[in-house]
Amino acid sequence: MRSLFVLLSFLIGVQNFYILRKDNSKNHQEITRIAILRVTKEVRKSMDRRFQEPNKLDVKSLARACKKQEHESHFQRGIRVILYYNVMTDLTYSASPHHHFDNEMFKEGKELITKGIHTTIDQMNRNLFDDARKKLGEIMHTLQDFYSHSNWIEMGNTEPCTALINSDENIPNPADKNTKTCEDNPDGVDLKVKKDILERKILTSGYTRKSNPKGKTLNHIIQSLQMLVC
Ligand SMILES: [Zn+2]
Repeated sequence: MRSLFVLLSFLIGVQNFYILRKDNSKNHQEITRIAILRVTKEVRKSMDRRFQEPNKLDVKSLARACKKQEHESHFQRGIRVILYYNVMTDLTYSASPHHHFDNEMFKEGKELITKGIHTTIDQMNRNLFDDARKKLGEIMHTLQDFYSHSNWIEMGNTEPCTALINSDENIPNPADKNTKTCEDNPDGVDLKVKKDILERKILTSGYTRKSNPKGKTLNHIIQSLQMLVC
């Protein structure tokens, strides 16, 4: 299982980031691990006024700062389970565009996240912690893909899209299916998101090569652009 995880981690890293990976860009596992550590630290801080932040944010230092050294290995394992199912989403749901916010499936992707949050909480309330970790890993993957597979960052946004986790809020300005979102270059190969799409702040995402309709952007093009700003 451990070696499979290492292998999968490596594969996903290669698939997503080899194109234009910047030195400071992070993959799914790294983003997820940092988020868990930060949130755990903040929760602990809110519970204990005398909590002293560790100098280094890793499992060992955080467990020590929380005075929970005896739970360090459980904490480590819990994080690994979440990371594993995050990574597995690219394999288990490789043919399901809305799990990755591909093909402009914003409504469907959001539904996965909001339903997934409820499922995770319900599983925690029933002490089904590994099921909850699995679901959390999956929805974090989809959430992260929103930023790497859509043009959210290119549109100039510097804040997260709150509509992704808020049922009462609509995803802002998604492109409709007939809107051409991609420039054509002279060779007839679609190269980049159209300037006026960015100026009018229309949200679009990449299409998989199989399902790529004319005038829409190919997935790897958007991903490579996004990596520049991650
Ligand atoms: Zn994905």
